[in-house]
Amino acid sequence: MINADLHNHSTISDGLLTPVELVRRVAELEVELFALTDHDDVGGLNDARAEAMRLKLGFVNGVEISVSWDDTALHILGLNIDPDNGELAAGLSTIRAGRSLRAKLMADDLARVGIPGALEGADRYVTNKEMVGRAHFARFLVAAGKATDVKSVFKHYLVKGKPGYAAHRWAGLTEAVQWIRAAGGVAVVAHPGRYKIGATPMRKLLGEFKEAGGEALEVVTSNHTPEQIRHYAGLAKNFGLAASRGSDYHGPGESYTLPGRLPPLPVGLKAVWEMWQ
Ligand code: AMP
Ligand code: MN
Ligand code: MN
Ligand code: MN
Repeated sequence: MINADLHNHSTISDGLLTPVELVRRVAELEVELFALTDHDDVGGLNDARAEAMRLKLGFVNGVEISVSWDDTALHILGLNIDPDNGELAAGLSTIRAGRSLRAKLMADDLARVGIPGALEGADRYVTNKEMVGRAHFARFLVAAGKATDVKSVFKHYLVKGKPGYAAHRWAGLTEAVQWIRAAGGVAVVAHPGRYKIGATPMRKLLGEFKEAGGEALEVVTSNHTPEQIRHYAGLAKNFGLAASRGSDYHGPGESYTLPGRLPPLPVGLKAVWEMWQ
């Protein structure tokens, strides 16, 4: 099986490396097929693809779309998309448009617990002005001494019930899948083990996703335990979904694993990359 890593971030969203730096790093790590999947933006794909071609690294156009499903924020990857598709571009643009106001509300909430200046603080880490997000606030909070690293920020801040959280309406699930399909891509439920929902809502989610035209589940990702990999492999089979593999790399010092350094897909699953190779 090839070493595919179909989930990675650059400075076009909340990663630390530019698209070109990221591709160069990935090429050193013996990855054979790579997808750039920035949050809600496809602006890095042209540069990344050009560099990947130069380095003879297999490249897939991707995006990770922010979705609200009931009260849960979900991430849906679009893989092998046409980045020039107008319907997808318009949809992503509406999601990006909501981020600045949300950031203001997050900063106001942090000010209430005695952390002023968070909007300006987060802004110092923003590399795409339309794409301010929680990772930028997390970097500010680490620099301000509120947590030792980005991962531990999310234990005390920026999540539901903690300071710095602002409820937000992202895209609808069906809508996001529709944009991906309009752009000729395959929709994938990202990191299912990270959602704080029970077994019954998870089955409901996968049913609705499949109904909407979704085709794959990210079975192997950096924060899944071996048990979770087995569990989501079982669900992929049950729901007739292909399986994806991606590290969700955000850059040096901020990730659980390096690109491509993941367990293989469990046997008996249909690899998502077989759908277009
Ligand atoms: P947003 O799209 O603004 O809600 O930000 C989501 C991003 O925050 C994720 O893609 C990660 O980069 C980061 N994030 C969220 N939860 C965690 C966590 N527990 N540990 C590390 N990073 C996280
Ligand atoms: Mn992120
Ligand atoms: Mn995600
Ligand atoms: Mn991601």
